[in-house]
Amino acid sequence: MEPLTALGARDADRADAVVIDGYAMSYEQLLGAARAVAARIAGAPAVAVNATAAPHTAVAVVAGLLAGVPVVPLAPDSGPAERGHVLSDSGAALVLHGVGEPDDVFGGVATLAVDPAERGEFGGKEPAADATALVLYTSGTTGPPKGALMSRRAIAACLDGLAEAWEWTADDTLVHGLPLFHVHGLVLGLLGALRTGSRVVHTGRPTPQAYAAAGGSLYFGVPTVWSRVAADPAAARELAGARLLVSGSAPLPAPVFRDLAALTGQSPVERYGMTETLITVSTRAAGDRRPGAVGLPITGVRTRLAGEDGSPVPHDGVSVGELHVSGATLFDGYLNRPEATAASATADGWFRTGDMAVIEPDGVHRIVGRASTDLIKSGGYRIGAGEVENALLDHPAVREAAVVGAPHPDLGQQIMAYVVADGVSEQDLIGFVSDHLSAHKRPRIVRFLPELPRNAMGKPLKKLLPPLEGPSGEGSGGRG
Ligand code: ATP
Ligand code: MG
Repeated sequence: MEPLTALGARDADRADAVVIDGYAMSYEQLLGAARAVAARIAGAPAVAVNATAAPHTAVAVVAGLLAGVPVVPLAPDSGPAERGHVLSDSGAALVLHGVGEPDDVFGGVATLAVDPAERGEFGGKEPAADATALVLYTSGTTGPPKGALMSRRAIAACLDGLAEAWEWTADDTLVHGLPLFHVHGLVLGLLGALRTGSRVVHTGRPTPQAYAAAGGSLYFGVPTVWSRVAADPAAARELAGARLLVSGSAPLPAPVFRDLAALTGQSPVERYGMTETLITVSTRAAGDRRPGAVGLPITGVRTRLAGEDGSPVPHDGVSVGELHVSGATLFDGYLNRPEATAASATADGWFRTGDMAVIEPDGVHRIVGRASTDLIKSGGYRIGAGEVENALLDHPAVREAAVVGAPHPDLGQQIMAYVVADGVSEQDLIGFVSDHLSAHKRPRIVRFLPELPRNAMGKPLKKLLPPLEGPSGEGSGGRG
């Protein structure tokens, strides 16, 4: 395998090859600073990085790759409890942080300030392909974050598959403003640029204005970013010359897909994945783009659908099953959690994503949602929350929507919607969606909220929605 840190840029001394929140580095400078850090961390069991959107994060991650020391990215806005959990669970011996960032918030773990302007030498040899490169903690959407062990081989396979799918080369300028502690921003948005040798501009914050001003060819965003871009026509039109607008990490609402296409002249490309599998399925640059479709497995990855009893579900464009993944991008298990690791695999060694999907006869995947929160079982029907959410979002007054199954004495679950909207009533909305959805898919209850609870990746946190109260809720906070 080629080294992950090949830093294949054509112009290794181009002064602004890696720009993070206004700080520009050449590939040579990034490598030189990383070598200085690698020499200091070599031999450590693991190091954590305070992964703010700042240049030290890139330097520290590359240093870990050079030294063969697993890197544990810390979400900068995680509270002391989550940070403490990640630090003690991962056994990190050292926290690397930016110059001037507070160093007294890491619960007594030793710290080292990383200066991106430094230069150093490091003579260690390239670590083995199966060595752990990153310990990536899951988002904690459905439970406490778990540390996924990612090998260099898995990361390389994912990046090479995406480079092929997106025709991503050293000629591209990648622009994004995603968090650098998560697979999307860190693996795709930083290591992807280094592996393909493309220029990368991290905008600090993912605002429409920053994206519009950056002049890239390839743009990454999560759906909340794209929804803000679509709501800012002047900024969106600046992206008309881009080669590819890529969305992922959560479902891209169909109205946002259509608005972006209308404003920029090109439909966004959606990709699907998770911490444990990296990115596994994506629309091709040359492929068909449809709202709600996430494309085909990348090279090296296989997928299948399974029923609740594990039996095969046909890839017929209608049948819903749990998505299983196998292939080169898979993790090596959860750190310190043999039971969770064992539970994540089927008897024949496929990874159970916990996501429900439909596969079209031509292989294109559609993600229905998480089995735990997005699949509603009501009156014998299985309903994907996303279809109902998209129908609500088609109403001009609705800005955000989250649909869940609330307890119901006869139906098992009833469809309940939480919306962010002005000047519209519950009855208006139920009437509106009745034109688009068959009766069993219509929400029976609509609650209005000032905003939806979301995490730093913009993923809706359905478990934090206020529970249904009153007679039909029977006092239970269960939301399926
Ligand atoms: P935890 O596993 O700790 O509960 P999490 O699953 O949110 O957190 P991640 O690995 O960051 O942690 O997220 C992966 C999940 O995000 C997928 O399992 C899927 O539910 C969702 N997801 C990612 N991309 C898409 C997409 N394009 N469309 C729909 N859902 C997506
Ligand atoms: Mg998960």
